Amino acid sequence: MKVEEGVSLSRLTTIGTGGPACAFVRAGSLGELEAALAWARARGLPAVAIGLGSNVLAADAGVEALVVRLDGELAAAAVEGERLVAGGGAPNAVCLHRARAAGLGGFEFACAIPGTAGGGVWMNAGAYGGDWDAILVRALVATADGSGWLTPPELGLSYRHSGLTRDQVVARVEYRLERRSVDEIKHRVAELTAQRKATQPTNKRTFGSVFKNPDGAVGAGRMLEGCGLKGHRIGGAVISPRHANFIENAGGATSADALALMAEARRRAREQYGVELEHEVVLLGELELPPLD
Ligand SMILES: Cc1cc2nc3c(=O)[nH]c(=O)nc-3n(C[C@H](O)[C@H](O)[C@H](O)COP(=O)(O)OP(=O)(O)OC[C@H]3O[C@@H](n4cnc5c(N)ncnc54)[C@H](O)[C@@H]3O)c2cc1C
Repeated sequence: MKVEEGVSLSRLTTIGTGGPACAFVRAGSLGELEAALAWARARGLPAVAIGLGSNVLAADAGVEALVVRLDGELAAAAVEGERLVAGGGAPNAVCLHRARAAGLGGFEFACAIPGTAGGGVWMNAGAYGGDWDAILVRALVATADGSGWLTPPELGLSYRHSGLTRDQVVARVEYRLERRSVDEIKHRVAELTAQRKATQPTNKRTFGSVFKNPDGAVGAGRMLEGCGLKGHRIGGAVISPRHANFIENAGGATSADALALMAEARRRAREQYGVELEHEVVLLGELELPPLD
């Protein structure tokens, strides 16, 4: 097991900000993953998995944890009958490719979610009416004490949430898909991708949705747009002029810049709509939003 020190989270996250991980390891098998988790526990270090870092904001001062990235067999995917079996680190794009090639549908909703199978479980990621909860059969969850399979109810999946805790790493997942023609899958993916491009900043450095959509008719994006926040800038971070629930790294942004924008957005949403927005993006390290008073 090769433990690296000082690997910058800015290289591991799609927004491209964040300081060093105190320790970083790549785990290519279940044995390596369990050994890494035991290594961290023996040193009193928390462990945290990172997928594609596509919904993470990490502190500029760095993260006091063992950051684990899955690769090798834990990032591969294969079709077995009508199931897609993927490593926790398998990118959604790879899973979609495998499913489409085998004529299995049901994963198209994830075509614009740039994460991994494990990150999808942790976030119960979803789009266009689909989510992980709907297609997941079970997930193999590793800890320093060993591994076990958990079903969706045991994982506690709800809107952009799972009951998983740090130190629990999704090593493998099984998805239940259904027979569908390759053309039909391609058509649906093209449709959803075009829809995405028309409404969201797909070619910018972001971490996806900043806030969860609150209960009620108005989504977080519309709400922040209504607050006049599109294009609002702090340092190198800017609220996307295209979709107000995204923060773009416009060049040289820090996590502190993004956090300050989030704080301002929450303040304005509360003032104008009386709503307390809850962040969807996962904050790693010493990062906290100021309370709304
Ligand atoms: C342009 C863009 C569009 C997006 N669109 C959507 C969307 O439509 N719907 C949506 O839901 N999300 C969307 N996202 C957010 C993000 O892609 C999803 O939340 C995704 O599931 C995160 O996966 P990841 O592997 O990148 O996880 P990361 O961002 O690396 O991590 C997110 C959380 O998952 C945990 N985690 C990661 N891997 C594991 C693992 N193997 N085991 C245990 N925990 C793990 C991390 O510790 C962290 O707490 C978008 C992001 C971007 C940049």
